[in-house]
Amino acid sequence: MTLHRRHFLATAAAAAVLPAIGGARAAQGAFEITRTEAEWRAMLSDLQYEVMREEGTEPAFSSPLNDLKTEGTYLCRGCDLEIYASAHKFDSGTGWPSFWQSLPDAIGTREDRKLLFIVRTECHCRRCGSHLGHVFDDGPDPTGKRHCLNGVSLKFRAA
Ligand SMILES: [Zn+2]
Repeated sequence: MTLHRRHFLATAAAAAVLPAIGGARAAQGAFEITRTEAEWRAMLSDLQYEVMREEGTEPAFSSPLNDLKTEGTYLCRGCDLEIYASAHKFDSGTGWPSFWQSLPDAIGTREDRKLLFIVRTECHCRRCGSHLGHVFDDGPDPTGKRHCLNGVSLKFRAA
């Protein structure tokens, strides 16, 4: 095995355990709607649980909501709160549903330091604490924000 190969494997192994180091769970703090882990498990698929309750990330381009352009409202899958509107959706090219703003009083944010050297802004439903995605500063006008969301955390209701 070459040195380069060994270095790659070591790096890959380190990357694989990174999420565990962070150990972040959604729903830290007091939320209006709370459920036990068993209740969340019962109402969510494995992927939905991993994303919404353990701050995982769905594969890019995996959500049918990514390409959806229908007029309507996006609800939190965890509690049906209206959190985003189709009027604020844009095609970011990232493979995740993207919005330049959330609806008023819909989300909460906090610092996410799970990635080494990168501080991101995590966003979650303000009512049930379910993880939605991250907010970045490279979005379009008028806010300049890019709310990069996991489609599995959302439900869509056509207008
Ligand atoms: Zn919610």
